Amino acid sequence: MSKRIDGAMRAARIAHALKCPVCGNPVQVEESGRLLCPENHSFDFAKQGYVNVLTRPAAGHYNKELFEARRRIMLDSGLYAPFHKAASDLIREVPFLASGTGIIADIGCGEGTHLHKILEELDDPHVAGAGLDIAKEGVQLAARDFPDAVWLVGDLAQSPFVDGSIHTILNILSPSNYEEFARMLAPGGRLIKAVPGAGYLRELREALYTDERRTYSNEGTVELFDRHFRRTETVPLRYSVLLRRAQLEDLVRMTPLSWSPDPEAVSRFLDCESAEITVELDLLIGEPRD
Ligand SMILES: [Zn+2]
Repeated sequence: MSKRIDGAMRAARIAHALKCPVCGNPVQVEESGRLLCPENHSFDFAKQGYVNVLTRPAAGHYNKELFEARRRIMLDSGLYAPFHKAASDLIREVPFLASGTGIIADIGCGEGTHLHKILEELDDPHVAGAGLDIAKEGVQLAARDFPDAVWLVGDLAQSPFVDGSIHTILNILSPSNYEEFARMLAPGGRLIKAVPGAGYLRELREALYTDERRTYSNEGTVELFDRHFRRTETVPLRYSVLLRRAQLEDLVRMTPLSWSPDPEAVSRFLDCESAEITVELDLLIGEPRD
């Protein structure tokens, strides 16, 4: 079976949770490899097995090189392995709905590695994964390499998910749209939002910057979360991972922190065989406010 048809078949499994981003009607997944609504808006699956449901073109801020670096470092170094374990434990806490299948939607999934690793960790046939990102370059990589989820290019503000259809929303180091999150979540469903802690990639920031970018506070992000969602739990994660030089290069490539660092500071940072890198994340768990 082609990857295109294979991708459409995975989407068919969660068709009840998909709607047309143009008119909001339910969509059918056609065997020929497209989504079709009753008003004839149609969206073809691409050869890599993802579907683009954007209603207008969008310019991404991230390029393919960044996504590839992020993918490599995650698969090679286990940089986020403790996070993937913690997230899957949190997902398991909430029983699935009567239908027996739980949809885990990663909103802002990038190249899909977080969702892939979390699905692998869950290892549950009753879980269906869906990843949405506005950056086609990321979703293409996800669909090409991870045939374990439905991959969509789409807009977080105009997502193709039906009201009350999602068991868990993952929102990992990525922007939020709380109104949309509240709309999509099934009764009893939860949002798991990962935000950087003050020490996140501290060694990298301290090596590359001399200005205010050396430090980070997630206070504003947490405040915004609390304004829209009722926080039921916060799981702080803090650990460090030893990265080899090639992985440190990927770390510099993958992070928006590095958009405009001093090239000399980058080469000083990379002038070592290996380095311990701190990962500090706060997992904010919440339910929509009534
Ligand atoms: Zn439509």
